[in-house]
Amino acid sequence: MPELPEVETTRRGIAPHVEGREITEVIVRQSRLRVPVPEDLIDRLVGARIGSLGRRAKYLLIPVEGGGTLLWHLGMSGSLRIARVGELPKKHDHVDLVLDDGAVLRYHDPRRFGFVDWLAGDAEHDARLAKLGPEPLSEAFDGERLYELSRRRRMAVKPFLMDNAVVVGVGNIYAAEALFLAGIDPRRAAGRISRERYDRLAAAVSEVLAAAITQGGTTLRDFVSGTGEPGYFAQRLNVYGRDGEPCRRCGAELRLVTLGQRASVFCGECQT
Ligand code: ZN
Repeated sequence: MPELPEVETTRRGIAPHVEGREITEVIVRQSRLRVPVPEDLIDRLVGARIGSLGRRAKYLLIPVEGGGTLLWHLGMSGSLRIARVGELPKKHDHVDLVLDDGAVLRYHDPRRFGFVDWLAGDAEHDARLAKLGPEPLSEAFDGERLYELSRRRRMAVKPFLMDNAVVVGVGNIYAAEALFLAGIDPRRAAGRISRERYDRLAAAVSEVLAAAITQGGTTLRDFVSGTGEPGYFAQRLNVYGRDGEPCRRCGAELRLVTLGQRASVFCGECQT
């Protein structure tokens, strides 16, 4: 599933090809995505020029000059890449934005849990965006915030960290990895973790996400490759998906628990 680093890598990968370009044609082959493609999308977009791409949590924001923004979510299996006019669509290539230089922004999504929607007003007032917590790589996110929001909360720290109202974009992989780096047991009650440990956890979250984005940067050329999908990157993971394997730090067998209905792997020795 595309997580925040993949969405940010997508933004950086497609931005140079679409910013400042005029949309000359919109092709919708399948409108039944998680949110149906708005019926007036073609009227709104044809002739419009694309502004500077943004991202909020896992939403890609594509503003057009003159007002309005496309809100794009990649769902479970979505990807955006740059094709050329005349390049035949593959199965599951649902939406094309054809640009004035012959490039095509092409959306591919086998499971169709992603969507593209149109925001007429200011994007930050959209209900989906307004309630989100701060970005994990912004100054608004730190150990103090985690500490303050967690007081008297009995839920386990891992689902607390994955709550979008606390901080956005920390999915299962990066929550597990950050808790390992910070040495915190994912089962520990959020309200019983010290300020000092939350400082370490906030730093670990930033570290794992920044590393993934940096690594993603090496795959940017894949956004314009003629075949396949953008290469999402397999980071060297310490715990996620490694239950039963030895801890890279101490050698103990990594354990699996379920927290907030999500599988969570951790080291019982290194994480307390
Ligand atoms: Zn260990």
